[in-house]
Amino acid sequence: MRENIRQLTPYSTARDDYKGGDISVWLDANESPYDNGVNRYPDPHQKQLKALLSQIKGLPPEQIFVGNGSDEAIDLCFRIFCEPRIDNAVAIAPSYGMYSVAAHINHVELREVPLGPAFSLPTASLLAACDEHTRLMWVCSPNNPTGNAFSTDELEALADRFSGMLVVDEAYADFSAKGSLLGVLHRHPNLIVLQTLSKAWGMAGLRLGLAFASTEVAEVLARVKYPYNVNAPTQQEVMRRLRQEPHHEHVAETISERERLAALLPSLPCVLHVYPSDANFFLVKVTDADRVYDYLVQHGIIVRNRNRVLQCEGCLRFTIGTPAENDRLLHTLASCQ
Ligand SMILES: *Cc1c(COP(=O)(O)O)cnc(C)c1O
Repeated sequence: MRENIRQLTPYSTARDDYKGGDISVWLDANESPYDNGVNRYPDPHQKQLKALLSQIKGLPPEQIFVGNGSDEAIDLCFRIFCEPRIDNAVAIAPSYGMYSVAAHINHVELREVPLGPAFSLPTASLLAACDEHTRLMWVCSPNNPTGNAFSTDELEALADRFSGMLVVDEAYADFSAKGSLLGVLHRHPNLIVLQTLSKAWGMAGLRLGLAFASTEVAEVLARVKYPYNVNAPTQQEVMRRLRQEPHHEHVAETISERERLAALLPSLPCVLHVYPSDANFFLVKVTDADRVYDYLVQHGIIVRNRNRVLQCEGCLRFTIGTPAENDRLLHTLASCQ
């Protein structure tokens, strides 16, 4: 941890000074007293939301960080652990673009280590890329954009052998049979697990990202974040949806659509290879990525062109849609030579 963060006295909100009691007149935070549903500041500690997440995830609230999307947690990791221009971080490549953007913004060198054969975890190369200034290591599993998950055994072994903080981004874990690291978090004090409500839970528009870590690390994340980082409507709406709308049926349908697409995509004339997926998307090698991309756009379908990403040359990334949307993708691709 950076020395300035270790010594930080966090901002104390008006509501932090209040230690309980039967209060009905709130004159402590210079808010508007006129009730319109959002005139009060949100709970900076997200107590109710964390209690609910604690039940769902099976970890105590003290080990949960809640942020404005996963992007907030990604940025905080760099700000907490990496001294700008001195420390460095290591990440697999190709992977999620925000690790490198957040590293650049924080003036931290990011050492990108290519995945092994068949997009496997390059454990030895990741460790070899480290030096005495390596504070963070980034692994995304299931990985975006390749779609494959790494085994929890491999990831645990990596955590054991790395002396800095290992951040495992599990944004797509709900779609994977390879499981999550949450159950073994207690064995690895240097592990941070990122999850999000943006994918399987269907709440990308609400912006809620989660980080799970040791109590000590979760406390530092909370200390460094903006006090009111998750707004009141988001906290309320997320709780309502977590209670009322189990997403399991949608996840099950996405997984069955994944099997259907895995069986049908390879027979299309423009498809050269479909990489195995543990996520809600496919990386697909096509005959001419730019041309197929344009063809799909002309037919009203937008996918992600990964043609210029190292090790993804010639590839497009297809998010799995509804059955009807997937039919339309298949139908459109079938007439693309
Ligand atoms: C989509 C995605 C996220 C989610 O980011 P949010 O800011 O929570 O929406 C995180 N990590 C990866 C690898 C992703 O692909």
